[in-house]
Amino acid sequence: MRLPCSPRHAKVKGKFKESYLSAAQSVKPLINSEEKLPRDKLNPPTPSIYLESKRDAFSPVLLQFCTDPKNPITVIRGLAGSLRLKVGGTGCSRQCVAWGAGVGVWGEALKVGCRRWDLRDGRDVWPCVAFHRERALVDSYEEWGRGVLLRDMQEDKESDEEGDEPDSTTETPPSSSADQKSHQIIKFGTNIDLSDAKRWKPQLQELLKLPAFMRVTSTGNMLSHVGHTILGMNTVQLYMKVPGSRTPGHQENNNFCSVNINIGPGDCEWFAVHEHYWETISAFCDRHGVDYLTGSWWPILEDLYKSNIPVYRFIQRPGDLVWINAGTVHWVQATGWCNNIAWNVGPLTAYQYQLALERYEWNEVKNVKSIVPMIHVSWNVARTVKISDPDLYKMIKYCLMQSIKHCQVLRASLVRSGKKIAYQGRVKDEPAYYCNECDVEVFNILFVTSENGSKNTYLVHCEDCARQRSVALHGVVVLEQYKTEELMQIYDNFTLVRGGGSA
Ligand SMILES: [Zn+2]
Repeated sequence: MRLPCSPRHAKVKGKFKESYLSAAQSVKPLINSEEKLPRDKLNPPTPSIYLESKRDAFSPVLLQFCTDPKNPITVIRGLAGSLRLKVGGTGCSRQCVAWGAGVGVWGEALKVGCRRWDLRDGRDVWPCVAFHRERALVDSYEEWGRGVLLRDMQEDKESDEEGDEPDSTTETPPSSSADQKSHQIIKFGTNIDLSDAKRWKPQLQELLKLPAFMRVTSTGNMLSHVGHTILGMNTVQLYMKVPGSRTPGHQENNNFCSVNINIGPGDCEWFAVHEHYWETISAFCDRHGVDYLTGSWWPILEDLYKSNIPVYRFIQRPGDLVWINAGTVHWVQATGWCNNIAWNVGPLTAYQYQLALERYEWNEVKNVKSIVPMIHVSWNVARTVKISDPDLYKMIKYCLMQSIKHCQVLRASLVRSGKKIAYQGRVKDEPAYYCNECDVEVFNILFVTSENGSKNTYLVHCEDCARQRSVALHGVVVLEQYKTEELMQIYDNFTLVRGGGSA
């Protein structure tokens, strides 16, 4: 088990494993959940920023404001306009075409839409059907059009089987044209992956006009130190939405920050709750029989208010940029036809780092894969980035120490049992490893098998899963990617830099 930094961190796999975090180093803001909040405090105004000039966008005040642990979400109004971003926004019709929003496809979707889409029934229950989790990647707008048709038919079939849904009177979205099938709502939109840097060069180049901390790639972004692509996290995705499309409630992978720009033509409605309340929301999901981390759910606002949870709610218009701070629980619905581009960012702040590691450990407890290999990233950051924030520095240093400890304990037990460890240093661009069975990150000491005796197919396992195949590790090769001295040298050379910012 892990040394608990909170009770739920107890018991991972029955073995002694310490946390990568020290509870004493926590930088979470103090939020008094006991005090009963009046109605207006439960509907706080959303932190909004109007940029007067390009210079405002590059002021360090903006970075401080957005990453302030007390601000769960920030809307930057008309950012696309003030930076002259050609990604849509006011008067964007030509730019929208530049982004590929072909009118023909919208027309196709519209035909489908008029036949059966109706927004009168909000159906605000916790479990919610949505396709966001599929992370469908289509290659073109034509495919997107086909996807809509395909799903439309599938939906028809499903709703016939479901029968009528209970009506809800809360949160009714604006009504559209009347339709017989009033119990149906639009539940989908589709993602287009813009990771191909050559193909989307003009579009991606526009995003270099953003302040550094918001960019897809920057020194101060942990996701730029992963060493490989994580689709939709350190690459851009375009979400095409029809009115009523919903992105169910979630926190980002490993509690990372997220940047979202509405490139129009319609609006999006956002709901957001501070990270502090995620466990309460998770408990609501449990009660409704839907998995908080992997399921689709749409909170009932009244439930949240009754639990004394403030909900930020606002409209994102074309050209508005939404900054989702680390760990913020959020859910979104399109009120018009719209396209959004989004990606994740991991600013090198103590708050972001702590939340990322907390979720890393919680994912392991819940058997959910951590999309960001935090130990691998921590070592890369220590090797290559100058850190000037003492809180962040101490946290990373502590994590590295725990990582060395894990390796040494494991190494010693292997040596004691007479198991050979073969050194195989890492090569350039070698990815982080995950256990083939349980999806846990496997750092440094890899348990490798070759499938069907084939020389080309190697599988990496964690120690537990390797021992499940063979307690004595027969047929398992143990590889070590770093020498102990190598890790210790990185650890020693990682020192706090005075002043100047972490990037
Ligand atoms: Zn495993």
